[in-house]
Amino acid sequence: MFKKPKGTKDIFGSEMQKWQKMEDCAKQVAKSFNCNEIRVPTIEEASLYLRSVGDSSDIVTKEMYIFEDKGKRQIALRPEGTAGVVRAFIENGLFSQPLPQKYFYVANNFRYERPQEGRYREFAQFGVECFGNQSPWAEVEMMQMAIEFLNKLGIKGATLFVNSIGCEKCRASFNNALREFAKANENKLCEDCLVRAQKNPMRMLDCKVETCKQALAKAPKLSEFLCDECKTHFALVQKLLSLNDIPFKVDENLVRGFDYYTKTVFEISAEVAEGKYLAIGGGGRYDNLVSEMDGPQMPCVGFAMGLDRISLMLDEQPSNIDVFLANAGDVSIDNIYKIATKLRQQGFSVECNLTDRSLKKQFVLASKLGACFVCTMGENELKNGTVNVKDMKNNTEKSIKTDELVKFLKSALN
Ligand code: AMP
Repeated sequence: MFKKPKGTKDIFGSEMQKWQKMEDCAKQVAKSFNCNEIRVPTIEEASLYLRSVGDSSDIVTKEMYIFEDKGKRQIALRPEGTAGVVRAFIENGLFSQPLPQKYFYVANNFRYERPQEGRYREFAQFGVECFGNQSPWAEVEMMQMAIEFLNKLGIKGATLFVNSIGCEKCRASFNNALREFAKANENKLCEDCLVRAQKNPMRMLDCKVETCKQALAKAPKLSEFLCDECKTHFALVQKLLSLNDIPFKVDENLVRGFDYYTKTVFEISAEVAEGKYLAIGGGGRYDNLVSEMDGPQMPCVGFAMGLDRISLMLDEQPSNIDVFLANAGDVSIDNIYKIATKLRQQGFSVECNLTDRSLKKQFVLASKLGACFVCTMGENELKNGTVNVKDMKNNTEKSIKTDELVKFLKSALN
């Protein structure tokens, strides 16, 4: 028997209902913020991610799925959403259209991580990228959108953490200070952090090793190194969040896993399972990525919500159908099938009995499917041009003329 690759999953049944709800909510929220959907390839040139996500990030150094295709190209499965959307924005000349522009996607990513609950090798994100807005309002809009998405799903108790990681100017002096700190604390840091201290010191703040976390709690804080522009920008972001009643906490150690961020970064965490707190989404500003990838100078902000983790927090979604069509006695299936076709064309979700099971068994099935109404046609109904309509919730029955059924169901199911 074949088994799915480690760290992947099959989604079906009641779990699928959760995914459909998440995707519907994502689309509704995106529409309410005037975001257009964008779909980009699952595969890209691997160098796209080396350039954008950064060659010292965990994603690029350890987690990317890379292969050589038959044309000897280095190809990567998408590890994150932003780089591909930025590539598409530049390649398709979208920057010449009126700005700002907002795009959203629901797409699968691939990272070779150690699988566990809430961490998979293939996982889905609802992501949004906003191009061409340097105002702190842009960050606020993105964070609000992420929160609205969670609200729509009925998720409570999530916490929004924000930080500013400054621009290249303020980061240079911060990185120097961190390097010095790493040198003085060499014996307390893991091997990876010692490499990070050389290549990209800020990455150390993202280390998951407990001893490093403890040591780095005493490291210099980026807030002490922010230039005036970055400081003012971050203060405004915080002011606007408060003004719009969006609760948040400043987390000075929040740096996020990608190299392309500038100024504001944010992360949303929640208890995804009993006692298990994980990031369920994150994002930030990336004002230099478009130009670094050979596009024009373009201030941008984006975020991505991890749908696999969010699904862990959703209650089982009730599954139901509008109508079950049953036949009784000698009435043949073609009589009820015709009605089913008519109802389906009107947009109702319909199951029609297509087997020779007894009426009793048809009712058992209808209630398993969560049918709101069961419409039964027996010999009398066939003769009179009616159906017997049973309201499964209220347990009431009535006879309805077949050609008035659509009207009846429309008002009853509204
Ligand atoms: P990132 O792209 O790393 O900023 O992650 C954004 C969100 O995607 C995270 O907050 C998680 O909710 C989710 N995520 C990231 N990596 C994984 C993974 N391996 N498995 C499941 N969800 C993930």
